[in-house]
Amino acid sequence: MNLNNNKDIKKIRVRFAPSPTGSLHIGSARTAIVNYLFAKANNGTFILRIEDTDVLRSTKDSIDEIINILRWLGIDWDEGPYFQSERLEIYKSFIQKLLESNEAYRCFCSQEELEEMRKICEKRGEIPRYNGKCRNLNPKEIKNLLDQGKPYTVRLKMPQRDISFDDLIKGKIVFRGELLDDIIIARSDGTPTYNFSVSIDDALMNITHVIRGEDHVSNTPKQIAIYNALGLEIPQFAHIPLILGPDKTKLSKRHCDTAIEDYRDKGYLPDAIFNYLALLGYSHDPQNEVISKDDLIKNFDLSKISKSPSQFDINKLTWINSQYIKKLDIETLIELSKKYIDNLDITEEKLEKIISLSTPQIKILSDIREAIAIFTNYEVLKNNPEVLKLLNKNEIMEFLKKFWCNIKNLENFNKENLEALYNSIRDEFNIKNRDAIQIIRYASTGKNVSPPLFDTLELLGKDESIKRIKLFIEEFENIKKD
Ligand code: GLU
Repeated sequence: MNLNNNKDIKKIRVRFAPSPTGSLHIGSARTAIVNYLFAKANNGTFILRIEDTDVLRSTKDSIDEIINILRWLGIDWDEGPYFQSERLEIYKSFIQKLLESNEAYRCFCSQEELEEMRKICEKRGEIPRYNGKCRNLNPKEIKNLLDQGKPYTVRLKMPQRDISFDDLIKGKIVFRGELLDDIIIARSDGTPTYNFSVSIDDALMNITHVIRGEDHVSNTPKQIAIYNALGLEIPQFAHIPLILGPDKTKLSKRHCDTAIEDYRDKGYLPDAIFNYLALLGYSHDPQNEVISKDDLIKNFDLSKISKSPSQFDINKLTWINSQYIKKLDIETLIELSKKYIDNLDITEEKLEKIISLSTPQIKILSDIREAIAIFTNYEVLKNNPEVLKLLNKNEIMEFLKKFWCNIKNLENFNKENLEALYNSIRDEFNIKNRDAIQIIRYASTGKNVSPPLFDTLELLGKDESIKRIKLFIEEFENIKKD
């Protein structure tokens, strides 16, 4: 083959093929991202295919949600969405072909018979499998059973030899022939099974690389057998290892939210989620965790995906999110934050000031509630061991009282004047700067973290600051020193 001849180099085509039976899971989103990056990095085509043949579990809501979330994540597709439910006749025609070529056969065994076979295998300590009863029925027997109206499924004659493939992530994988059962490719109502529709679609859609979760490894030999039976070209496979929770079991709702929409609703940004999931289990410089989508595409290399499972780390995701929040301009941040603001009395001007001051504390957009609450709600921070410890130190209360008395007379209540006043008063006391700042923070905000103190006081305003510090002093004035 002449590699310089472009005609010989197949254009890369990949697909993301979610089953619309719920929300988009973190693991599925990662699969979508890997497919997307691989397609973009190789100038290929990314296809969206909705695998909705399971009529009982697939819902329109789930389809809409998956499509919306993919768009929100910035994962756009070049072809599709194709819907498997609209392609049933295509699958049926291929099932017919296989029956005609004798690569598949009708299985008339009843549920009871299959159950019996299962029990016999179990008794012998063997893996349950079909005993091949209907594999060699002759045309007359088949006709008889059909004439009686006996329901049947269609099974593929699995080759009695090993099936192997070179997985682009996991390396060579071999399945022993004797363990491969004659799989059902059509149910008794004529609908195709998952493995069958997937194989037909991947072949007809000219998919070159099937990139999906590791949970599909065991389906791959079945799909290869289907390609072989139909003489179809086999794509390359890449199975992405699972995402685990902190206890190293498969990530589930027991660990944390698993649906991307939950993260969206809490105020994670799409680019941050994309960035985090693209780097999860992907070999990269640990000093460089914040990478734009363009750079991720430019440097994407499938072989950098780890062979072993990766652990989901909510703290890292949150940190990456905070970095993306810092990059937003204030107008965008205000716009995005509005969804989280319950207090509609606040003026646009005040909101802008609060958000500008609080950006370093906002790790996810819903943190904005807490940031605003500092300015709109106040409660004395009681029963807090840190506060009590600080108040036990010498001169702290005296310092706070003096500061409070003096700000009452401060003409121009701005941060420069507040800071100058603070410095001059603190110098009169034998206390640490950190303690002095912290006691004013506790007293004026009712919190142990806040935006920079003097900016916060300025924004609270003179009357409110005085009122709050007074309440705090009244609460603690009589505290006993040890
Ligand atoms: N529809 C399958 C799923 O959601 C994916 C099939 C595949 O990627 O081959 O798990």
